Amino acid sequence: MFDLVIIGAGPAGIAAAYEAKRAGLDYVVIEKGLIGNTIYNYPVGLTVFSTVNELELNEGDLKPAREKPTREELLSYYVRFVLDNELNVRTEETVLDVRKEEFPAKTQRSKEEDSNLFKVVTDKGEYRTRNVLFAIGAMDHPRKLNVPGEDLPKVLDHFRETYPWVKKKALVVGGGNSAGEAALFLAQEGADTTLAIFRADWENTDPKQGCIKYWVKQPLEQELNGHCLNLFFLGKVVEIREGEVELESETGERVTIENDVVFVLIGSDAELGLLKVLGVETEHGKYGEVPVYDFGTFETNVPGVYVAGHFTNHRHIKGAIDAGKKLVPKLAAKLKNAAGR
Ligand SMILES: Cc1cc2nc3c(=O)[nH]c(=O)nc-3n(C[C@H](O)[C@H](O)[C@H](O)COP(=O)(O)OP(=O)(O)OC[C@H]3O[C@@H](n4cnc5c(N)ncnc54)[C@H](O)[C@@H]3O)c2cc1C
Repeated sequence: MFDLVIIGAGPAGIAAAYEAKRAGLDYVVIEKGLIGNTIYNYPVGLTVFSTVNELELNEGDLKPAREKPTREELLSYYVRFVLDNELNVRTEETVLDVRKEEFPAKTQRSKEEDSNLFKVVTDKGEYRTRNVLFAIGAMDHPRKLNVPGEDLPKVLDHFRETYPWVKKKALVVGGGNSAGEAALFLAQEGADTTLAIFRADWENTDPKQGCIKYWVKQPLEQELNGHCLNLFFLGKVVEIREGEVELESETGERVTIENDVVFVLIGSDAELGLLKVLGVETEHGKYGEVPVYDFGTFETNVPGVYVAGHFTNHRHIKGAIDAGKKLVPKLAAKLKNAAGR
């Protein structure tokens, strides 16, 4: 019987695991990919946009070579943190189901604990726990254009690296920083790149609205001036075909461009199915559907079910870490009170 099962070993799950260990809880982290899987999937060599104090788990721990860490430095920091602190993380194990269970009739328990027993089923086994923390991120469902040809193998929903596309004709569709970065990497390293973007996104300069960061936008503009990048003000993508893509401009004009690869980088959504089956309520947040939870305790309407990180109202790593750090001491105190420990 665990006190806490944490689903996901991103920054939120790692921070929570660290606090759970410090509080002496019986906990386990179950991660379907690798430690820091979302960061592992960032483009190779990317310099992240956050500053060190927004990324580190303990002050002064993260020491990148330059002002901001690269993907590799950040990933290595989180992996080392898990290993050095001997956190109980099981990787490459997927949580498939979380169900409420009744306590066996004879079990001694206090009133507060009555409703808190869960069975967590994974592709490798089963766990019983009093509490579950969903720290599952928001990368499970990349958004689609829903146009003909989107299922062709040359259409990718995430940008990994540029070298396979040198001297190829690449189209990036999207208006946020990930699309901007992908277009920049591709153009700089020798792919014939088109960024298809809504004019409002290109002209957006508000970081709170998810604009392309200025240190990405400025070099993008230089690439435009150097003619290594084409900018297409998009009305819509009409159809993706072998060897070409048909686009409609903001003024309704149809053009067909030659094409070898399409990156559709228009955001992604969390998988909320497990939470909904448990009875967790959701609502429409700024970036899509989010679970409803108490901002102080991070507990949902289902007692014993907690949420933290990217798929809640915290889109960035700092918020994910803070959530993990804040919720566990409160949960530990509650468990101690309930059990008279
Ligand atoms: C290219 C890119 C660059 C970014 N740069 C920055 C930046 O500079 N600064 C910043 O603050 N944010 C940045 N972000 C956003 C940042 O990655 C997220 O805010 C952060 O990862 C959130 O942490 P998390 O722990 O909430 O979720 P995640 O890091 O996404 O972790 C969730 C984990 O849960 C696992 N999981 C999901 N479902 C299951 C399941 N059923 N069973 C088991 N495991 C499961 C996933 O595999 C994943 O490892 C960037 C994002 C991208 C894509």
